[in-house]
Amino acid sequence: MSDNRFIHVLNEARQKNIAVGAVNIFNYLTADAAAEAARQLNVNLIIQTSAGTVEHFGAKRLYDMVDSLRKDLPIEVALHLDHCRNKELGMLCVDTGWDAIMMDFSHLPFEENIKNTRELAEYAHERNVAIEGEIGIISGVEEDIVSDTAVGADYEETMEFIQRSRIDAIAPAIGTAHGIYHGVPKINFELVERLGKETTPVVIHGGSGLSADTFIRLIAAGGRKVNISTLVKNAYLDKIRELVLSDKKYAPIPFDTEVKQAVVQEVQKHLKVFSGLSKEF
Ligand SMILES: [Zn+2]
Repeated sequence: MSDNRFIHVLNEARQKNIAVGAVNIFNYLTADAAAEAARQLNVNLIIQTSAGTVEHFGAKRLYDMVDSLRKDLPIEVALHLDHCRNKELGMLCVDTGWDAIMMDFSHLPFEENIKNTRELAEYAHERNVAIEGEIGIISGVEEDIVSDTAVGADYEETMEFIQRSRIDAIAPAIGTAHGIYHGVPKINFELVERLGKETTPVVIHGGSGLSADTFIRLIAAGGRKVNISTLVKNAYLDKIRELVLSDKKYAPIPFDTEVKQAVVQEVQKHLKVFSGLSKEF
């Protein structure tokens, strides 16, 4: 695929042996904050949204919003759709010019996962859009999708899935989870390492709450895209709560500026670790 931003940022991450931060945004303020965090560090960025956010704003409005933000930036910013089970919605994002989509049919049996993912891969590739797929089950809550039991992916099955579905990036279930961690997750570093030697970039889901050391190990093993979502939401909501409950009276713009700054800081400390600029948060 020529000239696709998603492919481009992942290739560059591979060359530099780092990972691109994929930040889940849900409004203009969080998109602006993610772009600002990346711009200050001069690192590439993936801005991604849930399917629910697309349903809320519309694919075209989100595209226009991100496109206006990235226009004058010296870094590359790719727009990606996170976990989507709705084919029409995935195709809509493709048609609207998004750089990549993640179609998640990991809840279906193996052959069905391949068949459905490949159908969308063909649709996307014909339009120069990249696609991410998932195998195994990543536990936790992703929007309204609740997965109680994690099902680990294995190497042979994952390789077969990649080849037959023709995806451009693979999210294997490696023991990370969406949402908040209760205890220390048991992560299958070995699988990331084996997959990391192959050509298809490995995506790490459930990044919120992992330690800097865990990220560094996953990236050294070959993780090239790291998703962060819950920590963005928490930084946003916690700051709003703090400001609303404080005695100070805020006008809207100073209020938003403080909230944005809290999100910039939270995202930035993660981007620093993902891009090798820091070894700790
Ligand atoms: Zn995920």
